[in-house]
Amino acid sequence: MASDTAKRKIGIFGGTFDPIHYGHLTIGQLALEVCQLDELYFVPAGNPPHKAFQHVTEAMHRFTMVKMAVSSHPQFRVCDYEIKRKNPSYSMHLLTNFREKFPEDELYLVMGADSFLELELWYHYKELFSLVHIVVMNREGSDILSLEERASCYKTDYHADIILITSICLDVSSSMLRQRVKNHLPITHLTTENVVRYINEEQLYLKQVKNRA
Ligand code: ATP
Repeated sequence: MASDTAKRKIGIFGGTFDPIHYGHLTIGQLALEVCQLDELYFVPAGNPPHKAFQHVTEAMHRFTMVKMAVSSHPQFRVCDYEIKRKNPSYSMHLLTNFREKFPEDELYLVMGADSFLELELWYHYKELFSLVHIVVMNREGSDILSLEERASCYKTDYHADIILITSICLDVSSSMLRQRVKNHLPITHLTTENVVRYINEEQLYLKQVKNRA
């Protein structure tokens, strides 16, 4: 029988990643360190239900950029589960898939403060709490008291395990990068060199710009 010490800690970090930026990578690193994760899977969304009304860059481009950005990190991985699904995918599907893949391990779902505060809009969100620990990264503009109150409610009502990382992550967003590319401004300080090169080669973000919801 496998002993408790053999359990691994697996992080799951979903996002649109349109494109991936240093904020995402910093969140990933903090989650690894604070929760002592063994590995962290970045999961680019295929056709995200909550952003269905916006224009989102083709999944293969977003997936390729994530792959490039995490390629040199020994504990970062990329998961293509969502981009391969034909129908819109919800987090419950993804987490059930991870649970099947890692039946013995502990799962940690990583997200930013804005996503955490929208959790009630997620499909069957209460079921998440019995499947995963939730790691919430504070974000510029978020109110830490609201985060703490919400975490405390979920703990009391659903026995959720919520890990709040209260230091502010970098003040950067994918919308900011898209806007800067459109305005022909540099983004080399906001994402990795190979991603910058890819954006230039594929001529991404020169036309449409959408703000963070
Ligand atoms: P957009 O500007 O297009 O809305 P985004 O920068 O928020 O994009 P997403 O891919 O939508 O990027 O975010 C994936 C996850 O990462 C979300 O849970 C989001 O809250 C979190 N996140 C992204 N950037 C930051 C940041 N700078 N600080 C904290 N959390 C962040």
